[in-house]
Amino acid sequence: MLRVEGLEKSFDRFLAVKQANLTVDDGEIVAVIGPNGAGKSTLFKLIAGHLKPEKGKVIFKGEDITGLPPHQICKKGIGLSFQVVNVFSRLTVFENVRVAVLSHQEKTFKFLSSAHTSAVKETNEILDSVGLCSVSNRISGSLSHGEQKVLEMAIALGTYPQLLILDEPTAGMSPEETSNMISLINRLTRELGLTILFCEHDMDLVFAIAGNIMVMQQGVTIIQGHPEDIRSNVLVQEAYLGGAD
Ligand code: ADP
Ligand code: MG
Repeated sequence: MLRVEGLEKSFDRFLAVKQANLTVDDGEIVAVIGPNGAGKSTLFKLIAGHLKPEKGKVIFKGEDITGLPPHQICKKGIGLSFQVVNVFSRLTVFENVRVAVLSHQEKTFKFLSSAHTSAVKETNEILDSVGLCSVSNRISGSLSHGEQKVLEMAIALGTYPQLLILDEPTAGMSPEETSNMISLINRLTRELGLTILFCEHDMDLVFAIAGNIMVMQQGVTIIQGHPEDIRSNVLVQEAYLGGAD
């Protein structure tokens, strides 16, 4: 479904991502791991079009999408949920998801001032699938951090992606919220047939849900493989699993 080849991106003259390679198969849950500053968030933004790579290729379903703007990549079926919560905090939960659904349907944003009913059903279905129905009418800024992370994910689902990219989906969550998020991710792949690419610091979580893992260090892909190969790889143990962070 997705192939990333030799992706490179610098900020000023600092190479944040260099030699990033990644393959994601249809229906898989793939994790990217690596210490803070390894380039995981930058890689995700490069894939989703929020940053433009200087070198390398992003191939999605056989099509070269390298450097396309985010709305075009989104339309092709890639949704990105950011590491830092990125919701309209003064809109309700319902309105936040509805904006995403309407933007996907290419409707206007007139609903903010009028009472027309399009996208209500779709929005409610998405809120239901992530378990946010009970807080649908709350102002988003008043939600707990964990609920806002789930809302962020619901917004990404509003554009009906085939590939959903989640940047640290459980960052800052309580153990209970984390375990709910794990079930949610598993359910989305099983029930909606989504393919998921995520990065995460919690290794227990990574090894619990990922079917495939890519390891990054200083912007470079060290290895990608099955969890058992990653766990037993000496380079990975030295670079990451046994080390700091
Ligand atoms: P990770 O998500 O793995 O922690 P990031 O992709 O956020 O890593 O960052 C990789 C490196 O690029 C870090 O050294 C970070 O400071 C730098 N970086 C990320 N975004 C920017 C930016 N917009 N401007 C300058 N440097 C950045
Ligand atoms: Mg990050």
